[in-house]
Amino acid sequence: MQDTIDLACNHARACGARRIHRIVLRIGRLAGVEPEALAFAFEAVGADTEAEGAELVIESVPVICDCSTCGRSFECLNSVFLCPDCGTVCGKPRSGMEFELARLEVS
Ligand SMILES: [Zn+2]
Repeated sequence: MQDTIDLACNHARACGARRIHRIVLRIGRLAGVEPEALAFAFEAVGADTEAEGAELVIESVPVICDCSTCGRSFECLNSVFLCPDCGTVCGKPRSGMEFELARLEVS
């Protein structure tokens, strides 16, 4: 979270902005991040920076797999990446591990 705040503050400064109003993060469902814990860390780390008082918005990214057998893309709702068409278990999801800064609103 520290890195994310640093990145956001650096970006705000580069734009000549003095305050960050909103930070939008894209977080994959497999990233292992608890939104409540993240919000708490955000307040702690963001204090006395450009991000103090900013609204934290979390966009949840679904877990998407590409089946290696039939090529179907499907969303995984649990920890078994099972193709609903052919039953192949896929090893590595295409998305769902994201932890990235999506957007900033500054002034
Ligand atoms: Zn398949």
